[in-house]
Order: sequence, then structure tokens, then C-alpha cells
Amino acid sequence: MNFHIITLFPKLVQPYLAESIVARALRAGKIRVSIHDLKKYGGNRYRIDDRPYGGGPGMVIRAEPVIRAALSAVGRGKLGKSKPRIIILSPGGKEFTNQIAERWAKQGTPLVLIAGRYEGIDARVKKVLKADPSLRAEVKEISIGNYTVTGGELPALIILDAVTRRLPGVLGDDQSVEERRVASHECYTRPEVITANGRRYRVPKILLSGHHAKIDTYRSR
Ligand code: SAM
Repeated sequence: MNFHIITLFPKLVQPYLAESIVARALRAGKIRVSIHDLKKYGGNRYRIDDRPYGGGPGMVIRAEPVIRAALSAVGRGKLGKSKPRIIILSPGGKEFTNQIAERWAKQGTPLVLIAGRYEGIDARVKKVLKADPSLRAEVKEISIGNYTVTGGELPALIILDAVTRRLPGVLGDDQSVEERRVASHECYTRPEVITANGRRYRVPKILLSGHHAKIDTYRSR
């Protein structure tokens, strides 16, 4: 599956891709990630951000550099017949869920993740990309939750991670994807008993019983 991340801060994104399961998925060719540095799409005369119309604090990311970056990533027939899914990360967007991650992983559609900064991205990006005939893209605003972080890089990585771990063969044992098995948010490993502040903390007996039906019932409480 192909991911594109459009960002003003590529160096924030790169380290996450270099470790653990995502790095393994990259090495195994399960995913490909292209990072597009928004600063390269500003053009000579213009900056990437500007003051908001209507007044107010902060700066807004200009539409044209973002549109140019998205078209350079997936526009003008670059994907052949397949349509990209363009995601504008925004705290006001539709909330990202496991169900969305599962659907996107199953479909395997190239995902373009646009990370905003400052006061956000000029709203016309969505309209222009939606209407672009060379893209024929699904364009959506997505939020990772009802809180605001300083930029879209973490949200982009969260989505990339949540989708990647659902791709076949990415987790060593496909059973590890919680949503496909009886799982609990509470998990335990060795030793069976730990001692802290004079108290003993035990693993629940049922998990040591070897009785799988009862363990499933316990985990689904
Ligand atoms: N005033 C803006 C608003 O309320 O939409 C806040 C912009 S926020 C400080 C800067 C960028 O961080 C956004 O453009 C977006 O890309 C990203 N961002 C912040 N919180 C987010 C969230 N919960 N989900 C997705 N992206 C988020």
C-alpha cells in the first residue's frame, strides 16, 4: 500500500518510519511511504503561510503549495486507473476509527495524508482537489480525536500505523490484530507474581487455567 505524507516538517516523520513494525513493513515491501516537503512547493516569490482573511491570530497554510504537492504526488495519471484517497488532517474532521482503518487497509487505495500546521490549511485545498479531473480522488477531512495538537504529523503517523498493522502479513501473527479476536485491554506476562511496596500483585488465575473458552469470556468482559 502506498502512503504519501505532505508536511512542512519531514524530519518529524522520518524517525517513526525507521523503527519497529512500520520499518519492517517498509523493508518487506508491504508499504511504501513518500514524504513530500511542502517547503519545496512554495514557488520562489511566495511563502508557504500567510495571514488569515477576516483577521485573527496565527498564520494559515496557503492553498497553492498544498495543491501542487498533492498533484505532484498522485496527480496527472501517476496512479494509472486507481483513485487516491486524500486526507486533510483537521481537528474538525470526521473521527478516525478502527473501522475506517480496517476498510482502508482492505481497499489498499493509495493514501495521501496532508499535515497542517499553525491555524490550519486554506479551506480551498479540499474543494480544488475534489474537483481535479486528473485525480478523481476521494478527499476527506479526518480528525484523530476530539483534541488539538500542534501539527498534522502525529495524526498522519497514527493513521499510517493503524492502517499498516491491518495489512496482511504485517503483524507476525494475524491474530494479533485485536479487532479480529477476543481481546482485552488488560494483558499480563511473566512473572506470575510481582511485589511492590510490600504487596503482591498476581496474574488473574483464569489466565493460567489453559481453559480457552473461559479465557475468552474473561477477556470479553
Ligand atoms: N485552529 C485550527 C482548528 O481548530 O482547526 C487548529 C489547527 S492545529 C493547531 C494545526 C494542524 O494540526 C491542523 O491543520 C491539523 O493538520 C493538525 N491537527 C491538530 N489536531 C488534530 C486532530 N485532532 N486531528 C487531526 N489533525 C489535527
